[in-house]
Amino acid sequence: MDKLLDSFAKDLNAGYPGTAIFFGEPMSRHTTFRVGGAVSLLAEPKSIEAFVWAVRELRRLDLPWMVLGNGSNVLFSDGPHRLVVLGTSRLDTVRLSVDSMIPGAGVLLSRLGNAALEAGLTGLEFAHGIPGSLGGGIYMNAGAYGGEIKDVVESVTFLAPSGTLRTVSGADCGFSYRHSRFEDSGDVILSATLRLRPGDPAAIRARMDELSRARREKQPLNYPSAGSTFKRPAGDFAARLIEEAGLKGVSVGGAQVSEKHAGFIVNTGGATYDDIIALMDEVKTKVYLNSGVILEPEIRIVP
Ligand SMILES: Cc1cc2nc3c(=O)[nH]c(=O)nc-3n(C[C@H](O)[C@H](O)[C@H](O)COP(=O)(O)OP(=O)(O)OC[C@H]3O[C@@H](n4cnc5c(N)ncnc54)[C@H](O)[C@@H]3O)c2cc1C
Repeated sequence: MDKLLDSFAKDLNAGYPGTAIFFGEPMSRHTTFRVGGAVSLLAEPKSIEAFVWAVRELRRLDLPWMVLGNGSNVLFSDGPHRLVVLGTSRLDTVRLSVDSMIPGAGVLLSRLGNAALEAGLTGLEFAHGIPGSLGGGIYMNAGAYGGEIKDVVESVTFLAPSGTLRTVSGADCGFSYRHSRFEDSGDVILSATLRLRPGDPAAIRARMDELSRARREKQPLNYPSAGSTFKRPAGDFAARLIEEAGLKGVSVGGAQVSEKHAGFIVNTGGATYDDIIALMDEVKTKVYLNSGVILEPEIRIVP
């Protein structure tokens, strides 16, 4: 694998100068949980063309690989991982028109919210404060405070496993609660067109400020985490069930069920993958024994 990796990195760099390439890069540096061991290679192509070339080449070489957005919903094991990670952070251009925007997959939702505010466009306020990228947000239909990505996606351009570039309408993205077709398909999201509406900048700003305040009040933003650990079960809230099972503040090593918001597992310092997984297992078991509800992880786990 090492020789193949070397030649992949050399060709990527030669064909597409400006790609950032890191060998043996710890994923703790690229995830909001601040946990995760080294991957064989992290590459961050700077253009869609470079990204498409890299994906096609990795498939041709049959090397294991995955896509990473802003790393805010993913937990890597302590590794090492024989894996190539393609990061989208440099697919970061945003094109604006009167009532729409076309961002690259790596643009952060927070930046999109601010760009919409500056352009006087409404519809993205809900996403202000979700610390993910557009691609990661579409992948799992991120949402908050009554809004979801699906409400603003007009179309998505992606690379299919066959190696072809395709565009589908938002209606064909298979969106449901914290889910899209991209979770099952192996497609790589490259960009999207978002449909927004002209709005009053003062009202947009006020709503964004209100949501930021709500997050600061309710969420343990002073500790690394990956947001809500478990999906919301039908008709209930994971945090409520976890609290009711007496788990608020319970720790395993450096991982703790947040005392501020029981839906979050936080890294209070030096948490390992095993700590977090053991705590998630304990939470699942105790919630099931207490309420009969089976919690499902919302975070993506890379063992
Ligand atoms: C403090 C905090 C608060 C949060 N609040 C919310 C919230 O209110 N609502 C909410 O929904 N989420 C929330 N999250 C979770 C997270 O921010 C979202 O799930 C976000 O959409 C993840 O985006 P990302 O770019 O970080 O994805 P990553 O974590 O990088 O990746 C997540 C998954 O998406 C895949 N992926 C990423 N980009 C692409 C792409 N371009 N093509 C194909 N697959 C891709 C990855 O392979 C991985 O499987 C929160 C997280 C934190 C830490």
